[in-house]
Amino acid sequence: MEPSGGSVEAPGRGLRVLVVGGGIAGLGAVQRLCRHPASPHLRVLEATARAGGRIRSERSFGGVVEVGAHWIHGPSQGNPVFQLAAKYGLLGEKELSEENQLVETGGHVGLPSVSFASSGRTVSLELVVELATLFHGLIDRAREFLHAAETPVPSVGEYLKQEVSRHMARWAEDEETKKLKLAVLNSFFNVECCVSGTHSMDLVALAPFGEYTVLPGLDCTFPGGYQGLTNHIMASLPRDTMVFNKPVKTIHWSGSFQEAASPGETFPVLVECEDGARFPAHHVLVTVPLGFLKEHLDTFFEPPLPAEKAEAIRKIGFGTSNKIFLEFEEPFWEPDCQHIQVVWEDTSPLEDTAPELPATWFKKLIGFFVLPSFGSRSCLQEKPHIGRFTPPRTALCCLAGGRLTGSSLCGTHRCNHLGPSSEPSPSSSEPNSAPPVPGGGRTTLFLTDSVQPGLRCGDVHVSRDQLSPVSRLSLESG
Ligand SMILES: Cc1cc2nc3c(=O)[nH]c(=O)nc-3n(C[C@H](O)[C@H](O)[C@H](O)COP(=O)(O)OP(=O)(O)OC[C@H]3O[C@@H](n4cnc5c(N)ncnc54)[C@H](O)[C@@H]3O)c2cc1C
Repeated sequence: MEPSGGSVEAPGRGLRVLVVGGGIAGLGAVQRLCRHPASPHLRVLEATARAGGRIRSERSFGGVVEVGAHWIHGPSQGNPVFQLAAKYGLLGEKELSEENQLVETGGHVGLPSVSFASSGRTVSLELVVELATLFHGLIDRAREFLHAAETPVPSVGEYLKQEVSRHMARWAEDEETKKLKLAVLNSFFNVECCVSGTHSMDLVALAPFGEYTVLPGLDCTFPGGYQGLTNHIMASLPRDTMVFNKPVKTIHWSGSFQEAASPGETFPVLVECEDGARFPAHHVLVTVPLGFLKEHLDTFFEPPLPAEKAEAIRKIGFGTSNKIFLEFEEPFWEPDCQHIQVVWEDTSPLEDTAPELPATWFKKLIGFFVLPSFGSRSCLQEKPHIGRFTPPRTALCCLAGGRLTGSSLCGTHRCNHLGPSSEPSPSSSEPNSAPPVPGGGRTTLFLTDSVQPGLRCGDVHVSRDQLSPVSRLSLESG
């Protein structure tokens, strides 16, 4: 056996701990372990060339773009992410204020600044508030089954639909208004899919739904980007802790392994990488995403994991939350607008749209969040060679829960998506990008993906007539 992993230098004697995966879970674990009195020899084996995993901030569209995680949910003292962010000075005065930390949101996404129906007309905020109140009330009630002896139906989706039907029977409005109300409710179902990382609330079990702990605090963002957090953790680690471009293939455990460089010493674990490198260790912490584990369960652990652990991995769901960024030279929204809700007319939570999803994927988009632009000073600092003020362009970020494919956007583009473990996953060697479409328009769609391992993203340049209804809606509204 190789003394150690490829070109990576073998450590001396002492306790060796390997962390597989360099996302926030792996980085957080290794930072804690660094403080352990046994001072173990620590290494993080990361598949990609960067740390942070699904936390990734980029400077684009004249501002900070969060390709992955965006908000600190429940930013208050009980939240370790908030604590670290505060410690590293990554939050603004407002985010740190006591007032912000005390807000009780109940875990519900705030109301939109404006709500557009897909035909372009606005939906009255009064109606949106009425339906948000109904929907959030139902979500709160769905959480109350946590300690119940039994549930009326197996899933949150079925429960919500049953209750919506019950309420609908009492609606006294005309047919058109009733249809609009269902479409608004469908938009809230889409938001909840994003929150739960699923393409259907029918896949979310009702009994344990209340396990999710909602912390106080109004969701906040990192003015300089979420990645500042993982960068700070990285900077606090001893040199050479991170080993990049080392996708782990198999974890051989419960064994007795040796290496030439440490004669007489045996290790219970041997981590084997795709490139043939082997790392013996006393302990291994696995922090790869659940989606990866579901797909590679048969080969990732040798011997296989105990039955109950393997069953848990198979049974817990893993979905996709996706983002698309749209850039405009001029905003079509009001200056104080933060969140634009999109209500897809003729949709209803009571209808199963899964079979049509490949053609109507965009109807899973919940709306747009206005991204803050850099001030002129930042722009000048960013691009000093420009020599003059660069007017900040404006961008929107739309979120979608569930499987989202880009095929209807642009024929040459293949947007990665993660389906159930039985579906083939996109090959990691295939670039998730498309060549610019000749005569492409000014709107750039930037698709991000949460597929494992790590994030892959791509730019899609589209011409105006190739724009999907969601982007047409925004352009026409302008
Ligand atoms: C689009 C999007 C938006 C989100 N928004 C929010 C939000 O607003 N707020 C929030 O709190 N959360 C959000 N999340 C969720 C949040 O990003 C994740 O929960 C969190 O980053 C997961 O961290 P992790 O370390 O567990 O996993 P990851 O960040 O996925 O890290 C796992 C690491 O393991 C590596 N890896 C995978 N396979 C291997 C292998 N075989 N060998 C070695 N390394 C491997 C990967 O490359 C990756 O670096 C969002 C996620 C996405 C995708």
